[in-house]
Amino acid sequence: MTKREVAKIAVAELEKLYPDAECSLIYSKPYELMIAARLSAQCTDARVNIVTKELFKKYTTLEAFADADLKELEEDVKPCGFYKTKAKSIKEMAGQLLNNYSGEIPDTMEDLLTLSGIGRKTANLIMGDIWGKPAIVADTHFIRITGRLGLTKNTDPYKVEMDLVKLIPPEKSSDFCHRIVQFGRDICKSRRPFCEKCPLSECCKYYKKQKT
Ligand code: SF4
Repeated sequence: MTKREVAKIAVAELEKLYPDAECSLIYSKPYELMIAARLSAQCTDARVNIVTKELFKKYTTLEAFADADLKELEEDVKPCGFYKTKAKSIKEMAGQLLNNYSGEIPDTMEDLLTLSGIGRKTANLIMGDIWGKPAIVADTHFIRITGRLGLTKNTDPYKVEMDLVKLIPPEKSSDFCHRIVQFGRDICKSRRPFCEKCPLSECCKYYKKQKT
């Protein structure tokens, strides 16, 4: 089976398994997704959602984040870990959005990457979820699962993204990434994947290797 065939099966099967492809971070404004995504580095989405529930009630505008007292913001985001760096970049990013982009979220990868604390992973998330553009979010689940399926040999997020851009139809890419995250939590877990109940086992390189 070619990589393209495996990718096609994976897209179709995950679509069946998870018809509602949704981002697990909770937000109501585009900039809130950027902040939530920034907080999710080295932290679970569940914990981020607990923290942002209060955070977004306290800081209701981009201006409020830009003008925030840094020490206070650090305390507010502390449960997410790396709180000093995260608070600093959130405050800076809010200021950059206001000063350089009139308070709007940029819609190009190039511009998104100029923002403090925003890497390709978050930029892709924004491209897909806010702007409905093609996006490959190469997070830990995505790298692990696409590797097991034999769709990439790489583990570097940028290289994985480049490999998968060639295999996943652009219009399906953003939803596929959300589905992969769900699939990684439910079935293709990091330590003990439930291969026996996996709809992708027939085309999975890892599974075939385990059986031989
Ligand atoms: Fe993951 Fe196992 Fe399914 Fe392969 S067969 S995708 S390793 S759960």
